Amino acid sequence: MGLSDRRFVFLDIESTGGSIAEDRITEIGLLTVDDGEVTREWSSLINPQRNIPSFIAGYIGITDEMVADAPKFGDIAESLQEMLKGRILVAHNARFDYSFLRHEFRLVDRFYHSEVLCTVKLSRRLFPHFKKHNLDTLIARHKLPCEARHRAFGDAKVLWDFIQLAATEQDELQVDKEISGLVQPLDVPPGLSVDAFDDLPETAGVYLFWDQQDAALLVGKAKNIRAKVLAQLAAGSGNRRVTELREAVGKVEWLETVGIVGAELEEGRLVDELRPPMNSSPAVSNTETSQLVTDDQGRLQIQFVPAEHIAEQQPCYGLFRNRDDARKSIQAAVNKQPFCTVNSGFDGLVCPVHGTEQRLDKDSELQTDAGIETSSEICPSSDDIELSNTQLEMALIRLKQPDWPFAGPAALTEQQSWPERKRVHLFDCWQYLGFVEQPEAVFEKLEQASSAEFDLGIYRLLKRLLEVPKTAAGFIPVNVQGEQP
Ligand SMILES: [Zn+2]
Repeated sequence: MGLSDRRFVFLDIESTGGSIAEDRITEIGLLTVDDGEVTREWSSLINPQRNIPSFIAGYIGITDEMVADAPKFGDIAESLQEMLKGRILVAHNARFDYSFLRHEFRLVDRFYHSEVLCTVKLSRRLFPHFKKHNLDTLIARHKLPCEARHRAFGDAKVLWDFIQLAATEQDELQVDKEISGLVQPLDVPPGLSVDAFDDLPETAGVYLFWDQQDAALLVGKAKNIRAKVLAQLAAGSGNRRVTELREAVGKVEWLETVGIVGAELEEGRLVDELRPPMNSSPAVSNTETSQLVTDDQGRLQIQFVPAEHIAEQQPCYGLFRNRDDARKSIQAAVNKQPFCTVNSGFDGLVCPVHGTEQRLDKDSELQTDAGIETSSEICPSSDDIELSNTQLEMALIRLKQPDWPFAGPAALTEQQSWPERKRVHLFDCWQYLGFVEQPEAVFEKLEQASSAEFDLGIYRLLKRLLEVPKTAAGFIPVNVQGEQP
């Protein structure tokens, strides 16, 4: 099979924006190519039945006035479907055009499904030594003529020129081989239809697998939802988990998040909410930390407090699943920097200097029966309060949880280039305040976000991001009084 044995439709759409759910198509341009010959050129403005935002109109050149008398999608749906039928859909970032078309067809009760060839991917495969593969770059690099850039037919025509040129510059059989690799049929698990995979986007986000009884099976995050979902369900991997998942899955859903941090935040929220059996269980909710408090004699005492105290800007030491876990960690810390722990206020510690186990509960029958003596009888009690306070603080430094490194809230912006989207995530004192899509909306959001809750998953995520200089640099402190981030 060669290029000349295939049926293609090269297509481009313009729209009122990048959201498939909310935006509508304003123009479609296409050319059908059968057996290596252009058989049809067609383009039409489409009345999107809503306003075209001015920045989109300015960029693409399609205005409300231009589409006012144009046909609606429903008016051209039948003839369009006829042109698409039986042909591989070829587009630049093809998933986007494909999903947009499917959505528009669905709105007029039509179903559209086809093989899809993305020319970004094809260009990457054919010219792997180049880094950029956006349409402007392709046009410049290969000196492709384009009469109407950003208009649907002009952009679609460039793609056909690109493939012809690649077939001449390189070997036609090679081009055809790469195309075969890219339009490989999907390998669909028994409980799903091909349709279930059709709209999976190639953007960052979370995906959810449900079983055939609509119970959540697995939640995951991905930089590329489509690639990850297909990989997770790929037959023949020999992985038992994959086999189990393939047999059980009855539905796949997803949520786009713009970036991987956003995906991780959503993943944590969904795992907490749904507790899917194939996810490892999240951190136990009763996790504790410890703080040092001064008793009436001025001695520092270890006191256990719920982990949310980490958000309160007081030094916190350790993060413990339970008291026994706490005892082990604190014991290890004091052993590394031995001092007499008689006055530390923590039941069950063995003094690293005198070897005695501390029991504060002196009246307990059980302890006297067991023959354990109270530490105060064996450890010579120290009167140097200053010294033992310092020793305790020094020993616990190893367990100290980091301070929130900003004077107030901080913003982390994630963006995606195609479709162009932005999300500004807002955090304060290790807590997530939510996100906005426009930097201008940050202050309003901060005013509203009064009752954030401490979440261990988010705390751990932030700690991890802030530990690495490269990711930490993405956090920008928000000056609540002054300028924008
Ligand atoms: Zn001691």
